[in-house]
Amino acid sequence: MAWDILDKKFNRSQKDSFCRELTSGRLSHAYIVEGETGFGKTFFAYFAAAAILCRGNVKPCGKCNSCVKINHSTHPDLFVISPEKEGGIITVGMVREIKKTVFFLPNEADKKVYIIKDGNKMNVQAQNALLKFFEEPPDSAVFFILTDKKESLLPTVVSRGRIITLHPSSKSEINAWLYEKFPRKDKGEIEYAASMAEGSPGKALSLLEKKQAEIKDDVFVFTSLMFGDSVSGVVYFFKLKKYDRNKAKEFLSAIITVTNDIIRAKQKFESFTLLPAEKAAGYAKKATETKLMNIANEAISAYEGISANGNINLILNFFALKVYSNLK
Ligand SMILES: [Zn+2]
Repeated sequence: MAWDILDKKFNRSQKDSFCRELTSGRLSHAYIVEGETGFGKTFFAYFAAAAILCRGNVKPCGKCNSCVKINHSTHPDLFVISPEKEGGIITVGMVREIKKTVFFLPNEADKKVYIIKDGNKMNVQAQNALLKFFEEPPDSAVFFILTDKKESLLPTVVSRGRIITLHPSSKSEINAWLYEKFPRKDKGEIEYAASMAEGSPGKALSLLEKKQAEIKDDVFVFTSLMFGDSVSGVVYFFKLKKYDRNKAKEFLSAIITVTNDIIRAKQKFESFTLLPAEKAAGYAKKATETKLMNIANEAISAYEGISANGNINLILNFFALKVYSNLK
């Protein structure tokens, strides 16, 4: 994994309290790590594994042979189990494989660490097979079962483990992290990703890396239609798109940001979140502040409608009509 295992930027309190548990010899044989996608479950589990297997004084030291091997996923006492393909499940066969290693002494360390990623993708048989290990846990094994929420696992599994709940991070934490990670990236892009991430650093990262480019292009096309020669283009815009709920929300949120940028340009501000300065200034000449506010408000109600499980196509097309009648 290409990250620093010492990093405690996210989920610091959970990492600190885990380390305290470890130092005071209160290590459990199983942990259920719950949190939404992108909250840092895998990061947490690797951090904890490094702490358990570390040979240094302050664990995890990040420098010893063991820490280095974990950072490169090559430690012989670290076992990671995950579905074979995206969207796949963890089968009973995969869990039973654990039997081949779990009852033997560790290779290098005092413990063996098993990380079960996507634990919520274990079917019932697989979870029952896992329970067998928990009934008579080998002294040397520590399990981390990662799951979106503990309710996705059998109560019998949950009751055998200590629960660690990861929480959403603040927008400013994510922002600061992204700035550090991508010092050359556009400030607006970073802020956009952080504000769309809903507290998930992982989501912010993937937004920044791939998905965002696509939606941003769409938003720029839509904006140029709004302020172009023929506003009617906006009415047809969504007929060619197949947005899912998240995409639709990203789109609308970006439209709100763009409208804000244009209003800022009208008020002679010079820094913008999404639009290049010259574009913002150009669009600012084409609509009054009231009209821009109306568009932003329409985008907000559409966003709320879609968040409340409204019909995506209906809401987006209605939004486009409102924009059209507002600007024509
Ligand atoms: Zn170490």
